[in-house]
Amino acid sequence: MRFGCHLSIKNGFLGAAKQAYEMGAGAFQYFSKNPRSLGVKEFQLEDATLCKQFCEEKDILSVIHSPYPTTLTPKTNKKREAVLASLHNDLVIADACGSIGVVVHFGKQLEPEKPLQSYQLMIEILNEVLVGWDGQAKILLENTGGLPGTIGTTLDELAQVRNLCQEQEKIGFCFDTCHAFASSLWDGDNWQEVMERGNELAYFDHLEVIHLNNSKYATGTGKDRHAPIFNQGYILETQFNDILTTPQLRDIPFILETPKEEVPHEKEIAMLQEKW
Ligand SMILES: [Zn+2]
Repeated sequence: MRFGCHLSIKNGFLGAAKQAYEMGAGAFQYFSKNPRSLGVKEFQLEDATLCKQFCEEKDILSVIHSPYPTTLTPKTNKKREAVLASLHNDLVIADACGSIGVVVHFGKQLEPEKPLQSYQLMIEILNEVLVGWDGQAKILLENTGGLPGTIGTTLDELAQVRNLCQEQEKIGFCFDTCHAFASSLWDGDNWQEVMERGNELAYFDHLEVIHLNNSKYATGTGKDRHAPIFNQGYILETQFNDILTTPQLRDIPFILETPKEEVPHEKEIAMLQEKW
């Protein structure tokens, strides 16, 4: 199994890769730039290339998490242009660093009385970003953690949005266990059903990364607050076990976004490696 966590790039891309290696991680996630802004970053190609080489040598996988203001359902043209430029910039950096892709949250509901509008806008934005993108890095759509029934909480929506895009092969998925639990897509006891539906939709064929997080709130509450994996939060070890022992997921990187001030990531990764 391949475990890792979100890391800072304060010492550069190579610095993050080295930190992952020193922690004994097989994967890591990073913000390619300031996570609070959509500004385009002029990055150091040399640092990125060294990161890529180091990861190849040490067999470490990585993904970028897009900045928080990134949305696939921007409300204004100005925001739309900023999102497009930022996502393109993230893809370029991902490619240079040898990362699998860029994690992006599913869009938001724009107007409740026009349910299709949000999906259509997402597809438009994805087409605009990906048509003409000829790198290896993919956009990785992440399920959201809202109340049951809010958009982006089902595998059907993720698969369908991908199906309707022009550049499907440039789109993969990121499954967040806390979000799935919050929205009750996975209520802790229905993993078999999630797998069956996912297989019908070919969702798991395009799953590239799992965000492995426990939840500070019960399933179905729609609240997205991450907790450490072991003995904390509402998801039990036996419930995580269903996911972690799924043969189809053996090669997928599991990345922690858990609060490291509660349990250090290095310790949590070691516990995960021991258990699974
Ligand atoms: Zn996540």
